[in-house]
Amino acid sequence: MDAKTYPVTRTDAEWRAMLTPEQYQVMRHHGTERPGSCALLHEKRAGTFTCAGCDQPLFESKLKFESGTGWPSFNDPVEGSVENTVDRSYGMTRTEVHCANCGSHLGHVFPDGPPPTGLRYCINGVALNFEPSA
Ligand SMILES: [Zn+2]
Repeated sequence: MDAKTYPVTRTDAEWRAMLTPEQYQVMRHHGTERPGSCALLHEKRAGTFTCAGCDQPLFESKLKFESGTGWPSFNDPVEGSVENTVDRSYGMTRTEVHCANCGSHLGHVFPDGPPPTGLRYCINGVALNFEPSA
C-alpha cells in the first residue's frame, strides 16, 4: 500500500498481531468505522489523542469538536504528526489523512470546519488512543 518508508514500519503480520481486526481494517486497509460506533466520540476530558499504531500524539482535545457526523472531529492536528494524500476512491476526491510516523490511515480532512483553521479532520476513533492529561 505505501511506497514510502515511515519511521515506524511493521510487517503485515505484525500489524495484524498488534491491532484489533477493526483497527487493522481501518488503519491498514483504509476502512471506515460505523458512524457513532466509537466511545472516543464522546470523550470530553482534556488530553491527547495518540496513534493506535505507534503512540505518536496526533490531536489535542482542545481542538476536538462535535461535528454531528458520528466520527471524532478535530480542527487541527499536532504539527507535523499527520500527512495527507489525495483519495479518489468511491468516485469522490477527498483528502486522506494518515500518521506521519507509521503511515496508518486515520480518516479524511474536509474544508468545512469551524474557525480558526476552517478544517474538519474526520478521524476514525479506533485509530486513536486517548490519554487524559494529568
Ligand atoms: Zn502512527
